[in-house]
Amino acid sequence: MDGQRPGLVVVGASLAGLRGAEALRDGGYDGALTVVGDEPHRPYDRPPLSKHVLAGELPAEATRLPQLTRLRARWRLGQPAVALDRERRELRLADGTTLPYEKLLIATGARARPWPGAGADLAGIFTIRTLEDARDLRSALALRPGRVLIVGAGLIGCEAASCCRDLGLTVTLVDPNPTPLARLLGTAIGGTLAARMRDSGVDLRPNTKVLAFSGDAGRVRRAHLAGGAEIATDLVVIALGATRDTGWLAAAGLVADPGGLTCDAACRVLTATGEPDPAIYAAGDVARWPNPLTGGRLVTVEHRGNAVDQARHAAANMLAPATGQIPYGHLPSFWSSQFGLNIKLAGLTAGADALAVVHGTRASRRFLAVYGRAGRTIAALSFDQARWLPAYAEAVAAGAAFPPILGATDRPRIETLAPGWPGPRRLEAHHA
Ligand SMILES: Cc1cc2nc3c(=O)[nH]c(=O)nc-3n(C[C@H](O)[C@H](O)[C@H](O)COP(=O)(O)OP(=O)(O)OC[C@H]3O[C@@H](n4cnc5c(N)ncnc54)[C@H](O)[C@@H]3O)c2cc1C
Repeated sequence: MDGQRPGLVVVGASLAGLRGAEALRDGGYDGALTVVGDEPHRPYDRPPLSKHVLAGELPAEATRLPQLTRLRARWRLGQPAVALDRERRELRLADGTTLPYEKLLIATGARARPWPGAGADLAGIFTIRTLEDARDLRSALALRPGRVLIVGAGLIGCEAASCCRDLGLTVTLVDPNPTPLARLLGTAIGGTLAARMRDSGVDLRPNTKVLAFSGDAGRVRRAHLAGGAEIATDLVVIALGATRDTGWLAAAGLVADPGGLTCDAACRVLTATGEPDPAIYAAGDVARWPNPLTGGRLVTVEHRGNAVDQARHAAANMLAPATGQIPYGHLPSFWSSQFGLNIKLAGLTAGADALAVVHGTRASRRFLAVYGRAGRTIAALSFDQARWLPAYAEAVAAGAAFPPILGATDRPRIETLAPGWPGPRRLEAHHA
């Protein structure tokens, strides 16, 4: 190794940071490599936190990610990067030290959006993003709180509701939208999930906004709703999504905000003047890039598969010459297990103007549906029908006509319906 040269630096020691660092070594890089992370832990996996860890099936500490390559890296853990000086090619860390880099991979991901309203300081209010979050929430659930309230029926809120019902706890789930997962899947599919949740005993309250919490002796006891009603509670899970961790880049002259860090197609970060910085790349939840598979639209993808693929792609470009930069195309996909259902999505549903159930039925809760926009297939969703998904994912990647008629279809005529999107998100303090 060459001890004289500053070497390569990765900021963010989680999934994208780890897989990116491994890819640098696998790609033949033999110089100095430093991984900076603000958490005190070696990289661990987040998806189990809202599933097996909450359920008590897996200790939070057992989520550590396997290291797939000998990294020979210098780890700077428990040490946030607080500033970036691009001219000097230096990172500043919280302890005041500076870290020079030849090339930098930014993989600082996202943070759980905290409760923004009154009552945020009360005990008994939790979010789920970190190992500590999951461990603390699991310990609190093991004490069997009488009434659990979950605020936000996105993926993590729904998974938490499912775990709490499996534990036999009384669960209320509130969301300002008409159904769970309304922004991700639309209300037509969200209605199917709502029925499943109610069958499982969740007190689902759609079209409901929490304005504030209040408590007794410093512990949360009540949620105050818009319209004046209250919900009594002993434990609250806030599941309002995540904001990208870009605050430390405020003075770096990049296009960065809580919605993401903008990159070019090759994953190089864009400067305020719109040029890529050839020494800095980004990957994972934090990155916003023009994805060729979604028509070159700027997208951020908060799913595990993208963190791995994009980090590997960015690392390969970091090692390649300026003339050899390859655009990153990725078909977003995720899975979720909740209420005994295995839900998988390939593609992005945003802007869909039609939905077709092409296998099974919504009533049976076993089906495969496709989303279309302007006559093209843009996403495929399976509820316990995953065996059909790869074929439809290929149709999505190919931008096939909507609805795609694949040989396997078991229907003579495919019925199309409206996905049902809720109105624009209102940036109110209680649901920013
Ligand atoms: C509870 C939960 C359940 C999930 N379930 C699923 C699922 O079922 N399927 C799926 O596809 N995806 C799921 N996801 C999403 C998936 O976990 C993320 O897409 C993935 O973790 C993104 O990895 P990342 O490395 O880009 O970002 P992150 O995992 O957010 O990691 C970023 C790291 O950078 C650190 N960092 C931030 N700022 C700084 C700084 N200034 N200096 C140093 N370090 C910094 C952070 O502390 C963190 O350790 C889930 C996420 C959560 C939270």
